[in-house]
Amino acid sequence: MSIAKILEIALKTGRVTRKYPYEPPLLTSEFRGAVRIDPSKCWGCGACVKICPPNALALRNSGKEATLEYFVGRCIFCGMCAEVCPAKAIEVTKEFELSSTSLENLKSRVIHRLTRCSSCGSLVWTEAELKSVVKSSPIAEEYAVLCPKCRKSKFARAASIRIGVGSE
Ligand code: SF4
Ligand code: SF4
Repeated sequence: MSIAKILEIALKTGRVTRKYPYEPPLLTSEFRGAVRIDPSKCWGCGACVKICPPNALALRNSGKEATLEYFVGRCIFCGMCAEVCPAKAIEVTKEFELSSTSLENLKSRVIHRLTRCSSCGSLVWTEAELKSVVKSSPIAEEYAVLCPKCRKSKFARAASIRIGVGSE
């Protein structure tokens, strides 16, 4: 295409860019910016951490607490974490003016208390996840407070008593 043709098209179309930051930026409805995690909704299940391509999300376990950390400096704004979150705790915002002189300002955290198996004491899940499982699934609380191994043994014991295994 000749320069004359390009100039003709450009003159006809007019200016298509914005004088940002002197004018508001053009944010389309599809625009994805930083994500926001609602601590009151998050269970600490870790599904968002597993799906996050650049590891912008991490779940750290200190033995007493599990900390979900979001580092916006690594985020590629794909929105996959929000899609997989079973608690609908992640919102994809339109925030993009995210620069900071402090690395700490680029991180946000949700802290969860962990529960231990009421039988063997091993870590099971977060308190929020336990509450949600008891509320939304058929697992009775007496089984939900156990780790998978102890749950299996308790269930096997209960089943053997029911069918009379070992009885004369
Ligand atoms: S509840 Fe949602 S935000 Fe919380 S850890 Fe699970 S997937 Fe991530
Ligand atoms: S938007 Fe994408 S890159 Fe950013 S935290 Fe979520 S999954 Fe990770």
